[in-house]
Amino acid sequence: MTKIDNFQAKDQEELLAYVETINPILYERSRNSLAGSVTHLSPYITCGTISLNQVKDTVRKKYKSAESLKLIQELAWRDFFQSVYASLGRQIFVSIKREQGFGVFDELPKAIIEANTGIKIIDNAINKLYRTGYLHNHERMWIAMLVCNIAGIKWQVGAKWMYYHLIDGDLASNTLSWQWVAGTFSAKKYFANQENLNKYGLSQDRQKDTFLDKSYEELDADSEAKIFPGILQPRMYSGLIDNTDYLASFFEQVAAPVGTLFTITTITDSLKQKNDPVLVYYQDSDWLISRNRIDFVVNQIKKIAPNTKLFLVPQNHPDLVQILKSLPSQERMFPSLTDYYPSFFKFWSRAERLI
Ligand SMILES: Cc1cc2nc3c(=O)[nH]c(=O)nc-3n(C[C@H](O)[C@H](O)[C@H](O)COP(=O)(O)OP(=O)(O)OC[C@H]3O[C@@H](n4cnc5c(N)ncnc54)[C@H](O)[C@@H]3O)c2cc1C
Repeated sequence: MTKIDNFQAKDQEELLAYVETINPILYERSRNSLAGSVTHLSPYITCGTISLNQVKDTVRKKYKSAESLKLIQELAWRDFFQSVYASLGRQIFVSIKREQGFGVFDELPKAIIEANTGIKIIDNAINKLYRTGYLHNHERMWIAMLVCNIAGIKWQVGAKWMYYHLIDGDLASNTLSWQWVAGTFSAKKYFANQENLNKYGLSQDRQKDTFLDKSYEELDADSEAKIFPGILQPRMYSGLIDNTDYLASFFEQVAAPVGTLFTITTITDSLKQKNDPVLVYYQDSDWLISRNRIDFVVNQIKKIAPNTKLFLVPQNHPDLVQILKSLPSQERMFPSLTDYYPSFFKFWSRAERLI
């Protein structure tokens, strides 16, 4: 599978040509490893330029259903999270099924923020997050596990920090994955020990005798007893800042939401035909975004709809609810599944029959 280089701006046609090169058999075989053939499509799916259905249909045309099923199942995880968000709304921002037992601290460990935990695979992943805004699913799970279940930080603190830095930051996939790892939206907390990191990480980063070089029972027992490694003790504010002025510096602003409205998650090719595209950006102080994310989004917009203007919606805007309601949203992969499904596997048992 050809890799997407540096997440450059791409329109739908270019993305569909790229999806043609995806081999779902290779994906299924290798996707768990950091060196595996994952698609790197998440930033483009999250910004709306290509939909889950377009990826699924393109892959299905070339491959038999059994060959493409694993990739479609992974796409369905995103659709599952969107369905939970549609059902629960802002309740996804609090623990859904149970309280986070060891979620006691409000600030991240300094060693996480500075990528200095001593676990090479995790430190490299954090540096990669800062540099590129993209992480492999395993890297996200490992970091979240370390933050919530080893260091005892409230999952929301980690979720906001990671969301900020990701160029594919998606409120549903992000918060619900953090909750899944922390055990507040799953049957139990997720743990990965050094052996697991060594198995799926890059071979040059393998280590022994780290604070994760323990059995799963030991990691779980430490977490239950709220015992954590000293390196994770000093904590600090994660330093997220409001970059709205940076976003605004790329566009002429308008004073009212008039024109063809879109958001940073609906940058579709349909905007190419419009004379009056207006990006509506809601200044949500809870869910800030980094300059990396802004650069990615601005590049997508400049490629697809270069004459876009910007309408900023502050949190205290008198018509906030009405404006947010009028905005387009992403197409669902399984639009008929509108009930609340408490687990992916309950969702998937219905979804699989609809493919
Ligand atoms: C703690 C944590 C935070 C996460 N935050 C986000 C986020 O903010 N935005 C985001 O898009 N994904 C998030 N994910 C899900 C997943 O890690 C990424 O979608 C995936 O790694 C993106 O890389 P890819 O496109 O190469 O994935 P591939 O493996 O190639 O998968 C193809 C597509 O399927 C979807 N997908 C695959 N796995 C998942 C999954 N587990 N959950 C949801 N969708 C999935 C994505 O749209 C992805 O682009 C998070 C996962 C964890 C554990």
